[in-house]
Amino acid sequence: MKLNDNFNNLKQSYLFVEIRKRVEAFTAANPNVEVIRLGIGDITRPLVPTVVEALSKASAEMGTPSGFKGYGYESDGYPFLREAIAGYYSASGAKISAGEIFVNDGAKSGLGNILNILGHSRVLIPDPVYPAYEDTNIMAGNELIYVDATEADGFLPAPPSEAVDVIYICSPNNPTGAVYSKTQLKAWVDYANANDALILFDSAYTEFIGDPSLPKSIFEIDGARTCALEFGTFSKMAGFTGVRCGWVIIPSELERNGVNVLNLWDRHQGSMFNGVSYIIQRGAEAALSARGLAENRANIAYYMENAKTITEALDKAGIKYTGGKNSPYVWLKCGRPSWDYFDYLLNEKNIVGTPGAGFGKNGEGWFRLTAFGTHELTKKAAERIAG
Ligand code: PLP
Repeated sequence: MKLNDNFNNLKQSYLFVEIRKRVEAFTAANPNVEVIRLGIGDITRPLVPTVVEALSKASAEMGTPSGFKGYGYESDGYPFLREAIAGYYSASGAKISAGEIFVNDGAKSGLGNILNILGHSRVLIPDPVYPAYEDTNIMAGNELIYVDATEADGFLPAPPSEAVDVIYICSPNNPTGAVYSKTQLKAWVDYANANDALILFDSAYTEFIGDPSLPKSIFEIDGARTCALEFGTFSKMAGFTGVRCGWVIIPSELERNGVNVLNLWDRHQGSMFNGVSYIIQRGAEAALSARGLAENRANIAYYMENAKTITEALDKAGIKYTGGKNSPYVWLKCGRPSWDYFDYLLNEKNIVGTPGAGFGKNGEGWFRLTAFGTHELTKKAAERIAG
């Protein structure tokens, strides 16, 4: 037998291992120094009461003869959650029907598994980028074409002149925090339609958008229904990073080579996935209720207060950055190799962040801070940066 040789082409993923190693060495040598971690990409605030109540109620239901559920209604999700997600979209102006929504266990698996229904592809990936896009395509043996995201374009690259089959767009972006406008996204939609390409739109951070003029979904853009899929998640919007629930949207009319994409994905999920647990789906439904959204948006406002604290400190220190306005990520220009800046921040300011070099060649010279800490520690870190 033969294993998948493509795995030999993966780069060693050492970013977070190396960060841990350096932080451990520092804290071992300086046990009394308080190190503040602004490198975390994970949620830190607990689940909101509305979600906890729904999870408990659904668990109790499962312990009764009439409320017990076995295999899910369908692998695509219970109608109550698919309807709730469709309602969530309609509030921001995107018309999505419940039948176009496939509930899954999060954006990472959706974005990775979708490659199973695509043939060998030329795939466009922005650099810097969330590393999973690159690794999953290397595993699939696809041809990778990088599009530079740089300071000059505000880390929001425009479509290239060459044709590709698949395009990854993450807006608000991890790691740069940059957010595409409707006009900029329209250019990508027109490019995808002209080239028969598919856009895979990662909307993991759209709840952090405060500016009402910025699009929260690719389906707010005319023409997206014939070229785009969207990958959503409750992870960052509702603190579900450890609970696990997300969704994929595939417009019912989307076709390539005369084949309906939604039907292919339906078949894929029916064969490879047995659904998200009933309990979690009830929790996700509650996260989208009026009360659940209000509670979760209060948490997002809490994180965005941290982002403001960080960006104000950077302004004071005269350090350039993107993000932090409609995104939990602040991407600062460190003006030196990003691992050198990591060591400087750790040793001199006792702050941990993430070196931009870990996200691609254009991340070199840049550095990611996140808003997922507490107010108290973020303020302390900001004082150290500005001081
Ligand atoms: N997409 C981006 C851009 C992310 O940053 C992350 C997680 O950090 C994910 C997807 C993963 O989301 P999920 O927890 O839904 O798998």
